Amino acid sequence: MLDLSYEAPKPKVIAGAKHDWELVIGLEVHAQVASKAKLFSGASTKFGAEPNSNVAFVDAAMPGMLPVINEFCVEQAVRTGLGLKAQINLKSAFDRKNYFYPDLPQGYQISQLYHPIVGEGEVLVDMEPGIARLVRIERIHIEQDAGKSIHDMDPNMSFVDLNRTGVALMEIVSRPDIRGPEEAAAYVTKLRQILRYLGTCDGNMQNGNLRADVNVSVCRPGQYEKYQETQDFSHLGTRCEIKNMNSMRFIQAAIDHEARRQIAILEAGGEIDQETRLYDPDKGETRSMRSKEEAHDYRYFPDPDLLPLEIEQGWVDDIAASLPELPDAKKARFVKDFGLSEYDASVLTADTANARYFEQVAGDTDGKLAANWVINELFGRLKKEDHSIEDSPVSPEQLAGIIKLIQKGEISGKIAKDLFEIVYTDGGDPAQIVEERGMKQVTDTGAIEAAVDEIIAANPAQVEKAKANPKLAGWFVGQVMKATGGKANPKAVNEIVAAKLGQ
Ligand code: ADP
Ligand code: MG
Repeated sequence: MLDLSYEAPKPKVIAGAKHDWELVIGLEVHAQVASKAKLFSGASTKFGAEPNSNVAFVDAAMPGMLPVINEFCVEQAVRTGLGLKAQINLKSAFDRKNYFYPDLPQGYQISQLYHPIVGEGEVLVDMEPGIARLVRIERIHIEQDAGKSIHDMDPNMSFVDLNRTGVALMEIVSRPDIRGPEEAAAYVTKLRQILRYLGTCDGNMQNGNLRADVNVSVCRPGQYEKYQETQDFSHLGTRCEIKNMNSMRFIQAAIDHEARRQIAILEAGGEIDQETRLYDPDKGETRSMRSKEEAHDYRYFPDPDLLPLEIEQGWVDDIAASLPELPDAKKARFVKDFGLSEYDASVLTADTANARYFEQVAGDTDGKLAANWVINELFGRLKKEDHSIEDSPVSPEQLAGIIKLIQKGEISGKIAKDLFEIVYTDGGDPAQIVEERGMKQVTDTGAIEAAVDEIIAANPAQVEKAKANPKLAGWFVGQVMKATGGKANPKAVNEIVAAKLGQ
């Protein structure tokens, strides 16, 4: 059971602030649909192509070119909506949002203002293992991305790359339910995880395939509760929107800075202007980009080139039936079926590749032991060489093989680590390696006894000391382990040493 009673931490005391303030944050996340073709053209979406090589006539807004909707992109938006437990609107429509940038040759962006394809949904945001907060989703709409202006290639000219123009985006708009920088990052992390599970967006923030506009306001204690009761925004402070953030770290730093800036203005008796701001990671501050446009500034109107989008419930049901197991469900199942802690289960379900690997290992081994080996040994080792789980030199079968040898008592934990290293670097079947290299644990008490006797005979002084001080028995255990190359069963060694020393 998830504990939803988590209270947002009060924002840190702001140096120099006279009053207590609370943060209110709402995010608009732009997620690029994982589609090979653009939203209204067949041009490729491949990242890193020669500038202006992935541009169809309609993307370049050549006269007379008409958009044709890409059904696959619509399906991905529906899939995303279903994954966020959201309302799917069987009728939606495209609107033109007019603005004039050199990287937007149409002079408008095709978006969905009045009738988005997806309505209200929710995201459970994990704050600590087992503790989550619910952030409501207001809507998801489909829209086109713009191109890219390049200002740093020539001192006198700017260039335009239209490869990104017309690529399909899902804009996922949250309610202002987020109460701090950490929560904002946790929300984006969870959203990204769900999108990656669904396969609707690759979540690559570095390439700009997932980026967030972060809306921040501050209010006095008690105001947010009034907003919650009434859903009336006038109880909240005026917000500023920080555009296009594509790093979890910058999202947090920008919110922190923006909150301080607003508090300083308010405490000095000033007012917050609703505006769009940019975060400068070098200076660690936000600066004004433009005053906030209202919807009427964009001269929205229904796009006359596109029919309203009508989809059938049957199609939505088919998509719903094909949804994969999502992170929350998978995590709960790992806890229940494999007896894992919430923490281990979240690490192992962070992405589907990790989860799949673990399940293959745990299929016929002890779940907790498998989790331990995957998280501590395998992940640790992969991280060292910057390998991903997909190109792990140790297959799930091999790791399961090692764990089975431990479970059967054939190798000790210490030898298992050596064995893991051998399998990691040279490959091979773990059981066979153990056989060939004589790595089997010595459980034969006769052999262990002989080794103990030998060490006792060779160290009479040490024996006297150990008889007086039982703690020194450990020294003998260590010697026996050394003499047997770490292969003696540690439990048996302890018992035999204790018996021989008369303890
Ligand atoms: P716009 O396109 O004008 O930015 P949207 O409705 O698309 O408007 O998005 C507004 C975003 O700002 C939503 O995520 C919403 O939750 C958030 N928001 C609205 N009011 C506030 C506020 N007072 N403080 C913080 N966030 C807010
Ligand atoms: Mg917006």
